[in-house]
Amino acid sequence: MMKIRRIETDVLVIGGGAAGLRAALAASDAGAKVTLIDKGLVGRSGMSGTLPYWNIPAPVIPEDKGRYFEDLMRASCGLSNPKLLKILVDEARDRVLELEEYGNIFTRDSTGEVSPAHAEGHSAARVLTPAYSWIMAMQLFKRGITVYDETFTTCLVRAEDRVVGAVAIGLKEAEILAIKANAVVLATGGAGHIFGMDTRLWQSTNPIELTGDGYALAYQAGAELVDMEFNQIALEPQYSRQFGQTQKSSALAMARALRSTMTFQETPSVHHFLGGVVIDEKASTTVPGLYACGEVAGGLHLKATDQFIGCLVFGKRAGEAAAREKCDLEMPLDAIKGEVERVVSILTRSPKDPLPPYSVRRKLMDTMWRDVGLSKSEESLNNALKVIEEVKDLLPRMYVRDKSRTFNKEWVEALEAYNMVIVAEMVVRASLMRKESRGVFRRVDYPREDDRYLGNIFVKKVGEQMVLEFRRTTEREVIEKVVA
Ligand SMILES: Cc1cc2nc3c(=O)[nH]c(=O)nc-3n(C[C@H](O)[C@H](O)[C@H](O)COP(=O)(O)OP(=O)(O)OC[C@H]3O[C@@H](n4cnc5c(N)ncnc54)[C@H](O)[C@@H]3O)c2cc1C
Repeated sequence: MMKIRRIETDVLVIGGGAAGLRAALAASDAGAKVTLIDKGLVGRSGMSGTLPYWNIPAPVIPEDKGRYFEDLMRASCGLSNPKLLKILVDEARDRVLELEEYGNIFTRDSTGEVSPAHAEGHSAARVLTPAYSWIMAMQLFKRGITVYDETFTTCLVRAEDRVVGAVAIGLKEAEILAIKANAVVLATGGAGHIFGMDTRLWQSTNPIELTGDGYALAYQAGAELVDMEFNQIALEPQYSRQFGQTQKSSALAMARALRSTMTFQETPSVHHFLGGVVIDEKASTTVPGLYACGEVAGGLHLKATDQFIGCLVFGKRAGEAAAREKCDLEMPLDAIKGEVERVVSILTRSPKDPLPPYSVRRKLMDTMWRDVGLSKSEESLNNALKVIEEVKDLLPRMYVRDKSRTFNKEWVEALEAYNMVIVAEMVVRASLMRKESRGVFRRVDYPREDDRYLGNIFVKKVGEQMVLEFRRTTEREVIEKVVA
């Protein structure tokens, strides 16, 4: 049996990327006791920890706010929640310039003023660079916020109608953490990894942590998600030998490129999710006690260069609102016990007909890349759905060879596989429902935008079923409902 450590905190933040860091700082500044947990190293994992720096838009002059709002609405093809976008535009400038108080220095002109640049999709020069997210990690340590890294959240715990905490595996100390909180902020980033990580195809630019855990955690806790069919496929530079073999962009490939006849080419790659957990203006989800911010949150429908600012604006809002929550409910013991049994049982399975977790994930990723990622149609999506059902049957056969409780990555991979299947199913079912092409969402069998689909697809767990609803943007009326 594993050691179980019980922890109490006011605000639990799950995820230490840009959104989680900003939420933790805000909650701490509002006087709350904050605990932050991350599956990797805080400030160094997730998408925020992977890129060296960001470009970040800020309407530095007040007159630019209106144009920025219009740019964002246009980019979202009418699918964003305008209330959320208005907040983003109003607060962007302050959130960006505040980074300088934390030690970030933006490029300046000869007069010493910040000098915004033009960027694709922006009708005015409003993008500042470079923005660093790890700067916020230093502020976290400065404030004495409790941090558990290498700590993998496996479920959110509910009592009555609200979220009251979470269960996580501490991979460093080989312990289970049962964390009771007045409020939980989900900041777990996206799920690019469900589309694979083939070193020859470079299918996703996302790091391995991004298996969509947050979408699955929220779904299992009863929260509503939106726009899960929208995943940005971006062209990324790759380095290829002249005789045609492509290689993943790595330090080694770069070094070789400099010495040999390699050429640059662009390859499609899954970039980020535009949908996610439904939030309101305070970043609260549809489940009391649960907040979401950053890429895991839905409703803003942001393109790549606007994601980081979304993390800062709604990270701060989530942290402040979470800090105001009070909750006297205890974490139900049977929920903790049930979750501990579930996660540990994966290590004690019999090796009858065993499958390594990697091969099960590979089967899922292959179909997601081939049938959903690059191009999709009724036929390919139905094939993906069939494979997803097969993968569900394979999950109980996953066998973890390493039985240790410390840094057991294969164990984590097995647990992540359950989340990946849930997220893949949401993506595929929503893609089947949207019979058109809109923005970054493209179907080969419905190549044009269709006004009947000007609206959002919502996903929710009802009982044991995945329920999807299409609601028109204007009337928010339900025009189609599928119960899987
Ligand atoms: C190539 C590329 C370029 C980009 N360029 C820009 C740009 O210039 N400007 C811009 O604004 N945006 C850009 N983006 C988008 C931006 O990087 C991301 O949207 C943003 O970093 C997401 O931040 P986040 O905090 O929401 O999530 P992340 O930074 O991904 O952090 C999520 C964290 O949650 C943790 N986590 C996940 N699951 C669990 C779990 N079960 N338990 C505990 N912890 C967990 C992870 O370890 C991770 O640390 C780019 C994206 C890509 C792919």
